[in-house]
Amino acid sequence: MHAGQPFPARGNMATTTAIPKTRISGGSFLLDSRRPEEVFTPEDFSEQHQLIGQTTEEFALNEIVPNIEKIEHKDFSVTRDLLKKAGELGLSAVETPEAYGGLEMDKVTAAVIADRIAKYAGFATTWGAHTGIGALPIVYFGTEEQKKKYLPRLATGEIVGAYALSESTSGSDALNCRSRAQLSPDGKYYVLNGEKMWITNAGFADLFTVFAKVDGEKFSAFLVERNFPGFSVGAEEHKMGIRGSSTCPLILSDCKVPAENLLGEIGKGHLIAFNILNIGRFKLGAMCLGGGRVSIEHAIKYAKERKAFGKVIADFGLIREKIANMATLLYVGESMVYRTVAMMDAALADVDKSVPDSAKQTLKAIEEYAVECSIIKVWCSEMIDYVVDETMQIHAGYGFVEEYPAERAYRDARINRIFEGTNEINRLIISGFLLKKAMSGQLPLMPAIKKLMDEMLSAPSVSEELEGSLAAERKLVEQAKKLGLFAAGAATQKYMQAIQDQQEIMGAIADMTIETYAMEGAVLRAQKIAQAKGEAAAAVPIAMARVYLTQAMERVESAAKRVIAAVADGDMLRTQMAILRRLAKYEPFNTIALRQQIAQRMLERGKYSLA
Ligand SMILES: Cc1cc2nc3c(=O)[nH]c(=O)nc-3n(C[C@H](O)[C@H](O)[C@H](O)COP(=O)(O)OP(=O)(O)OC[C@H]3O[C@@H](n4cnc5c(N)ncnc54)[C@H](O)[C@@H]3O)c2cc1C
Repeated sequence: MHAGQPFPARGNMATTTAIPKTRISGGSFLLDSRRPEEVFTPEDFSEQHQLIGQTTEEFALNEIVPNIEKIEHKDFSVTRDLLKKAGELGLSAVETPEAYGGLEMDKVTAAVIADRIAKYAGFATTWGAHTGIGALPIVYFGTEEQKKKYLPRLATGEIVGAYALSESTSGSDALNCRSRAQLSPDGKYYVLNGEKMWITNAGFADLFTVFAKVDGEKFSAFLVERNFPGFSVGAEEHKMGIRGSSTCPLILSDCKVPAENLLGEIGKGHLIAFNILNIGRFKLGAMCLGGGRVSIEHAIKYAKERKAFGKVIADFGLIREKIANMATLLYVGESMVYRTVAMMDAALADVDKSVPDSAKQTLKAIEEYAVECSIIKVWCSEMIDYVVDETMQIHAGYGFVEEYPAERAYRDARINRIFEGTNEINRLIISGFLLKKAMSGQLPLMPAIKKLMDEMLSAPSVSEELEGSLAAERKLVEQAKKLGLFAAGAATQKYMQAIQDQQEIMGAIADMTIETYAMEGAVLRAQKIAQAKGEAAAAVPIAMARVYLTQAMERVESAAKRVIAAVADGDMLRTQMAILRRLAKYEPFNTIALRQQIAQRMLERGKYSLA
């Protein structure tokens, strides 16, 4: 196989993948320390992953990017042609089973494609909705007939998929939808009435997964074709960003849907709605990486060209600091996304594809990492907002006008914090899921919290010194984990189960959890690179890990303080603050020098590059 050629089906792939086989439970990163060889990073991409990445990148650069202007002006015939071309290359079929025309590849491959295709957010959104929330409900919940009928055509891009959950009065609160479905007296049709709002691809999609309540009560999903009687699409929304994607309302007016187009079981639509969004989250994260890389390249190019005070602005410390921060975030984001998808792949490898409930097992394996998927969604969407914002700042006046891509990127990035579950909802999912796992004993968080509380109240030292490569950095990760557990422990002691109603505390716990995962990913990846190439060759990743750890530790400490101040007072507050200070104590890195080093490398390479 060569870059640019269609991918062969899975069985014909001769290359090995380097995905660690260790089965790691979701959320366990809070309690266990991992060794570098247990995590997957972009340095572990197999030859196959690299080729697919290259093919996708070439497709994006040669086919998508030259068409940006047309797509921005909503020439959706171009979009449809591109979806077909993506289909011909196999880019839209990696998660479709081979039996239905797909390639059935690993989730790392799915993430690589999402990452590399995202050079232009308008098209990436369209493609992401089509291959993800458009096709996956059928992959995981469809009947044999539904799969045969729709999946092969979705895989080639002959038909385009969409997913219609949100309504004008229920977005986050999606189960509260008003759309209704009634079985016709002869049992042949469901008659759907209601509306849907903000549906991606609606302007030209052929097939919609539409959620409605059977008899006004039982939340269910239906496969609705565009030409079904009673189905219509409203006008395009005028959006702030991703203008190259289509977003419209749907109108269901006595829409007749054949009974066999019920998807999944009546009353079990929530399983479809939430599982599919969960899968979408890691891909949204991967797309943010792709968008971020493009943005930093623009920022570097401009910084090297623009002159002020007799110098190029790339010579100014404050501009270099921004470039270093942007690159550092990309490095951390890559570490988190690929670590997570590889954990999923390791869990999915245990699923027996030959049994009838293999789809159920697959979803269970994916759901195991719901916390990590939400972490990626929140972290990566906030990362890209930072990156496009600083790219705009580097462009300054020119960034604010349409002449440069910084302006469009700034607008395009913003949606990522809103869809696939807002970041508020995802933060609640992170801490809520952890709490649920802790309460059910799936994750031994409570004993770990108790042990830490006892330890902290008796022992004077934070923990033993660690040895070996990046020992100080690893110790910092451990301290962050302890800070999070300590604050969560203090909060659960006060509120018990009712902590769920304390949203600000749940949000702070989510923030600490997110930072911990990010910090650990950054250090493990640097360690892994150092082990493979030596510490000198790993200087930039190590510098990035140190810069990130320093920033993140401040945020973890601040969140922990917020929680403790809210749950303790008097002597208890003073004792807990003393513990917090002990846990948060470390010798600072010289982040100014480290950022200079990172920025220098990026400026030399003209793009985000660790090499
Ligand atoms: C461009 C675009 C494309 C989209 N594509 C699709 C699509 O293809 N299919 C689809 O079904 N939907 C789609 N959506 C809808 C999107 O998923 C929703 O906008 C999103 O889920 C939020 O819902 P909402 O806008 O109704 O906000 P609301 O739910 O009204 O939320 C408003 C604010 O309140 C916060 N909030 C809500 N509930 C809580 C809570 N319990 N606790 C704390 N804070 C809370 C939210 O985080 C948010 O900040 C799209 C939206 C846009 C803008």
